Amino acid sequence: MFDLLIKNGTLVDSHGMYHANLGITEGKISTIYQGNKSVSAEKVIDAANKLVFPGIVDTHVHFQLQDLGKIISTDTFNSGTQAAAFGGVTTIIDFADQKRGESPLKGFLDRKKSADGQVAIDYSLHVSKTDLEYLDEIPELIKRGVTSFKFFTTYDWRNLDLTDTELVQFFKNVRKNRGFVIGHCENNSMVKTYREQLIQDNKEDPIYHAHSRPHLAEEEAIQRVMLFARRTGVHLHIAHISTKEGGDLLAQAKQNNLRVTGETCPHYLLLNEKAYTTPDGYLNLMSPPLRHTKDQQALINQVQSGVIDTIITDHCEFSRERKGNGKLPFHQVTNGIPGIETSLPLIHDFLVNSNKISYPGLVQLLSTNPAKLFGLYPQKGSLQTGTDADLVIFDPSVRKTITPDILHYNIDWNPYTNFQVTGWPLITILRGNVLCEDGDFVGESNEGKFLKRDHLNYGH
Ligand SMILES: [Zn+2]
Repeated sequence: MFDLLIKNGTLVDSHGMYHANLGITEGKISTIYQGNKSVSAEKVIDAANKLVFPGIVDTHVHFQLQDLGKIISTDTFNSGTQAAAFGGVTTIIDFADQKRGESPLKGFLDRKKSADGQVAIDYSLHVSKTDLEYLDEIPELIKRGVTSFKFFTTYDWRNLDLTDTELVQFFKNVRKNRGFVIGHCENNSMVKTYREQLIQDNKEDPIYHAHSRPHLAEEEAIQRVMLFARRTGVHLHIAHISTKEGGDLLAQAKQNNLRVTGETCPHYLLLNEKAYTTPDGYLNLMSPPLRHTKDQQALINQVQSGVIDTIITDHCEFSRERKGNGKLPFHQVTNGIPGIETSLPLIHDFLVNSNKISYPGLVQLLSTNPAKLFGLYPQKGSLQTGTDADLVIFDPSVRKTITPDILHYNIDWNPYTNFQVTGWPLITILRGNVLCEDGDFVGESNEGKFLKRDHLNYGH
């Protein structure tokens, strides 16, 4: 007797796709079998003509963002993770910030406290290091399941960056403790100088945001931190690659057997800097900025060839008011766009429907690789028996036009408004419990668990 039986579906994992039935017992996938068998189950879902994927794993999100103790995003952990579930996402990794001069362990515990009991799906945390104090807490953080540490090479005007000397020391320490590092890579001096120059020249329009953070700033910073990673032996994951040059460096580094991986976001594949010249252009500000069509094309190629390992969203949800209603100069607009609910249908339509990647390739980019890289596989990111029954049942033929009102964010805008897609997630299941079904949230909204993560286990 199963708790839940999903029958007649086409199961898709990173290896392939096949017709089968999937039985769930006590939150785990307990059997996968083909053909007709008389079995009983408390609940049966007929998934004929539908696809069954492992739940999406988005390893770079920012819910319930705070500034000076106040929530500045329009989502909370609770509303954000529900929107994520509607998009087929069953695991997220958010960030705990070390405040300058304060303990990162405290930052982690505070962030965990605000998420526990509030999340609809399973979650974990990275820790962002913003100074070198408390390096000795890294072993304790790793013991508590935080194996990945973010650093910034820029934002010195917000006190977030580490200097080159600090980076080397930080990399050595993380390496020694068998963790790994995630880099936000932009050359600080370039970004800062261009930004100040544009401010001085009263260049305020959204497009100048892109001019203030040129391609070369990303390329140079990636190249530099790759050198530090090579010399210290740490595994380096490059966050949100936005340029052709960044992707090219990742390809070269992999050829040279550097311990390196990289991610990009749906917006760098689907949008370009033209989005800054529309009346709502200010809403599309994020860092790194949107680029050119040649970058979109190159990043698509790098996704296809496996150079880019994962697609994540860097989701941040802000209201028009928070972004200044189009009245602020670019450098005062809060950066970040929402993306978590539309990632699966957009990437499916844009890359699978156009035959650029296969269905198993889609699962690999959005679920299996992120789970492997961040120490969650095979409980997450697989359809193996004995693992968490986190699933999304996807209808590949339903057509939708994306508008803010079909989504579940607390905002009246979306960067993909009027994009038409074929294929949409119908049912999302977390550890055997149906969370979303045909557009309704039917599950518990606060039973997501914190996931202690293992050491990196990704190809080396
Ligand atoms: Zn981010």
